Amino acid sequence: MTHPVHARIDGPVILIGFGSIGRGTLPLIERHFDFDREKLVVIEPNGAVAAELKERGIRHLEVALTPENYREVLGGLFETGKGFVVNLSVDTSSLDILRFCREKGVLYIDTVVEPWAGYYFETEDNAARTNYALRQKVRDEKAANPGGTTAVSCCGANPGMVSWFVKEALLKLAADMGRDATAPTDRPGWGRLMRDLGVKGVHIAERDTQVRLTPREPGQFVNTWSVEGFIAEGFQPAELGWGTAETWRPDNAHGYDYGCLAGIWLEQPGANTRIRTWCPTPGPQFGFLVTHNEAISIADYYTVGMVEAPEFRPTCHYAYHPCDDAVLSLHEMFGSEQIQTDHHILGVDEIEPGGIDELGVLLYGHEKNALWYGSRLSNEETKSLAPDQNATGLQVSSAVLAGMVWALENPEAGIVETDEMDHARCLEIQKPYLGPVEGHYTDWTPLTNRQTQFPEELDEENPWAFRNVLAG
Ligand code: NAD
Repeated sequence: MTHPVHARIDGPVILIGFGSIGRGTLPLIERHFDFDREKLVVIEPNGAVAAELKERGIRHLEVALTPENYREVLGGLFETGKGFVVNLSVDTSSLDILRFCREKGVLYIDTVVEPWAGYYFETEDNAARTNYALRQKVRDEKAANPGGTTAVSCCGANPGMVSWFVKEALLKLAADMGRDATAPTDRPGWGRLMRDLGVKGVHIAERDTQVRLTPREPGQFVNTWSVEGFIAEGFQPAELGWGTAETWRPDNAHGYDYGCLAGIWLEQPGANTRIRTWCPTPGPQFGFLVTHNEAISIADYYTVGMVEAPEFRPTCHYAYHPCDDAVLSLHEMFGSEQIQTDHHILGVDEIEPGGIDELGVLLYGHEKNALWYGSRLSNEETKSLAPDQNATGLQVSSAVLAGMVWALENPEAGIVETDEMDHARCLEIQKPYLGPVEGHYTDWTPLTNRQTQFPEELDEENPWAFRNVLAG
């Protein structure tokens, strides 16, 4: 594999967070950008990485960013109008940091709208703990301050890459249906394309089959990416983009009276809410309705008509089957009402051969029923593609790489989400790291082979209705 240098970064390159994703992103930055190495800084409060960074000749600031110190710490590193902040930390406010970066003309990227420490568990109002609320603040900032220095919001695998997959999948669907498969040039055009193809909704359908070589210890939370991040989002309310095809909603659902109006949330934790979905390897499976930014951003982006009374909007949500150890960890956590304090992220060499992260978008409800389109990256292939990460990590870090390239090529685009970026260019950068990227059709629906021993209230007329998808 050759490693093209995609762009030059003038000024400081500041990596915030050196956890599983930061560690995996660093070698891609080193590989694909020309920059002054003495201006590379990692801000990471975990002192355990200090010796390693020193040995690699990388400047390390062993500090946790806080609302009180972030301007001073970052301001001490910034060169006005130059450089890039790559925020891959937990417990730092994406909004505050991106605002400060734009004030100083510094490019910015993150993979999630992260709040300051304490927000997820100390905010009492559940509606305020949703991704809808977090995202809307970034959208409001964009509306109040259009244009200016580029800040890419939520550019990981999901949120992130999956928004580019939705566009690829729509074009594939159009071609396979014998329709015009020319890529639309603006947002209304994409919305109309989705509507005209008859798509009713999108699952971000993921199956992680990476298995640890040694069994999980009881009391340990094991995952293939941030345990802290997963627990935090898992305890947020279940949340989804709410489409115009839905005729029923759960009794514990709530809407909003501000913002884009594209989503609803349920009065129950997302990681304890099961839904029915489909991925190529397992076929039908349960996923968890974990809240994610893209569930709202995709529903919002593809809305046709007035937001208050849209002609068309897709339902959209995450349908996540994490690795089996994470499923057991969740089971133990919710059952015991105790959050494990022993956290473990699977390293690339701890995983049995054969494990993959299958992450794609399932576009459903159209005349071909459903199309899954996504990356089926194995841990083994990951080892040959990039160091210091498993398959899950590489799907995220390579999206960060693509987003950085796009930002450097479009430095005055203002605040953008991945739905608003050039998906073809971004996937061109990212695809060498994604393993097989494939489309798979299925005739499965949430009503297929449904057991009948126990009565259920189902919507027989609309197989893909959320009523049929939600398993409780
Ligand atoms: P991780 O838990 O492995 O690492 C997070 C790092 O942030 C840790 O090293 C921690 O010490 C550091 N940190 C904590 N508080 C900090 C502070 N106040 N200032 C600076 N650093 C601080 O997490 P990860 O797996 O590397 O994930 C990083 C982020 O990326 C998380 O927010 C996660 O939700 C997000 N993520 C997004 C996607 C996606 O596809 N969009 C996928 C995976 C992870």
